[in-house]
Amino acid sequence: MLTALATAAGEPLTLTEREIPAPGQGEVLVRITACGICHTDLDVLQGHWPIARFPVVPGHEITGVVTAAGPGVSWPQAGACVGAQFLGDSCRHCDHCVRGEQILCPAKRITGIVMDGGYAEYAVLKADFVTPLPEGLDPVAAAPLMCAGLTAFNSLRQAGIAATSRVAVIGAGGVGALAIRYAVAMGARVTAIGRSRRGEAAAREMGAERFIATQDTDPAEALRAWDGGANLILNAAPSTSAASATLTGLAPDGTLVLCGYGPEPLTLPTQPMALNRLHAMINPSGSPHDLRDTLAFSVAHGILPEVTPVGLRDANTVLDTMAAGHAGKRSVITFG
Ligand SMILES: [Zn+2]
Ligand SMILES: [Zn+2]
Repeated sequence: MLTALATAAGEPLTLTEREIPAPGQGEVLVRITACGICHTDLDVLQGHWPIARFPVVPGHEITGVVTAAGPGVSWPQAGACVGAQFLGDSCRHCDHCVRGEQILCPAKRITGIVMDGGYAEYAVLKADFVTPLPEGLDPVAAAPLMCAGLTAFNSLRQAGIAATSRVAVIGAGGVGALAIRYAVAMGARVTAIGRSRRGEAAAREMGAERFIATQDTDPAEALRAWDGGANLILNAAPSTSAASATLTGLAPDGTLVLCGYGPEPLTLPTQPMALNRLHAMINPSGSPHDLRDTLAFSVAHGILPEVTPVGLRDANTVLDTMAAGHAGKRSVITFG
């Protein structure tokens, strides 16, 4: 099988032929239909994930078809259409695992970082950690839902979104666009925040009622003028400072949740936070039940990302473009 391998931090992907692996106890072999290219894949290649186990096959926005089930697997069997995400395995017996919050397991293992992921024609995955694809869902367009969609949906949920919420979304790349559409579909009012007005028309089309361009407006001040501030700010830009600059735009008891962030630490203005009981959190993707909910909600509300299909041989070019800061439609590797 053709495989793109991350061999060491700072090195481009290497295309190589490998034997198709056999599924072991509790595992399934999946013929991959599509794998989205996530910003985290770039972070791994750039060496920002010290836990990365090189050489590793990156990619955790996987859709595909099960071709073989290993010993002890009752579901899924050959022929099942499945998705696989960032969380690839966990201990199954800690307090978090038994409560269905496997994403918080101290022994969790991450697909495409410590376990081989989806930049290959086949992958062996843990049967407990693949998710059934709802019928009729296009497996290529759905690939980014496995990480970008899950992270956007679950971040809104973990930060306590309600139908009465005012939600601000920073950045309108893959995660940001989905966050705007999910928040609108959940009944919230939405303000989109970008550097320039370039993304304004698209954000309004997705249902945003306001747009703040940070190059000519202080975003915190503009948010406070929005009926007293945002109840929830979701940062989808790969910049920690963009998030910090909005924090005092929260209404009392509001929450800043970071889906995107850079390597620099988050600086928090402690006094305004204390006076208004403000919260800041980073939500790491989600557990298997969160992905099922994300997919069901996306199907029910017709929320699918716009994607550009690319070949495995194009992955390095896509990652270079991403590193240069040119965010476009989500690129999805397809195997045909
Ligand atoms: Zn556990
Ligand atoms: Zn991801």
